[in-house]
Amino acid sequence: MKSISVEQDGLKSVLDQVAEVAGYFWQNRWEERNGGNISVNVTEFVPVHIENLDQYIFRNHAIEYRELAGFSFFITGTGKRMRDMARQPEGNGCIIRISEKLDGYHVIWGAAGDPHIRPTSEFPSHLAIHHFLLSHKPGHKVILHTHPTHMVALTHIIEHHQTEKLNRILWSMHPEMKVFIPEGVAVVPYRLPGSEAIARATVEYLKHHRVVLWEKHGILATGDDILDTFDVIDMANKAAEIYLTCKNAGFEPAGLSAAQLDELDEMSRQWHSDAG
Ligand SMILES: [Zn+2]
Repeated sequence: MKSISVEQDGLKSVLDQVAEVAGYFWQNRWEERNGGNISVNVTEFVPVHIENLDQYIFRNHAIEYRELAGFSFFITGTGKRMRDMARQPEGNGCIIRISEKLDGYHVIWGAAGDPHIRPTSEFPSHLAIHHFLLSHKPGHKVILHTHPTHMVALTHIIEHHQTEKLNRILWSMHPEMKVFIPEGVAVVPYRLPGSEAIARATVEYLKHHRVVLWEKHGILATGDDILDTFDVIDMANKAAEIYLTCKNAGFEPAGLSAAQLDELDEMSRQWHSDAG
């Protein structure tokens, strides 16, 4: 089953970070059963020529993104649990390479001897988003999808057309929000999980955001680093948790004042121009 070794530069580090983040998802109780999924564009770490490409999965219809031919991705396996991924990425995820003809893909690593392992059922959405990232945000190789309890709870209270209100609340609950997510979080109206509709809508919203909240479902974020992308989700969920904790205590939180938010805006602009 194994066609490549992961003991080479880059890949080992990717898999270690995937396991670390899968553990955080589970410890935070964001992943019930087989919830959530992770994919990483690992093409730069995979040899161009691979011997013994012994497993080839045909899809019912061709993969539509010509630009992805020959690209390799780590992706979580369908039906697999994050708590297991944290212990053993090899048995719960795989690295696949899209065939040159776009009629299927090779499993080039992972599966721990399970010949039936398949990528998550969200694989088509991940491919659509990686295809978008390639042309619009080429540095972003990581896609994380999870179900952070407090963020999802907020979407049951604040409707999607009130995105502005939701962002005002999040920014005002936690000073770091303005600095690290100055563009705010986008809210995608509810779509059937795993559907083409949710993939299409997500790509649309990702044009101006890196964190997308799927109404009454979960969150999806992209980034250039696995741990950093997790941190952004964790921070947003913390802001939501602070808000809901105040509400549970029976009072409306004061939040940061307009002047305090302006001050953070200025700091954010400075920080991003220095970083850029
Ligand atoms: Zn989900």
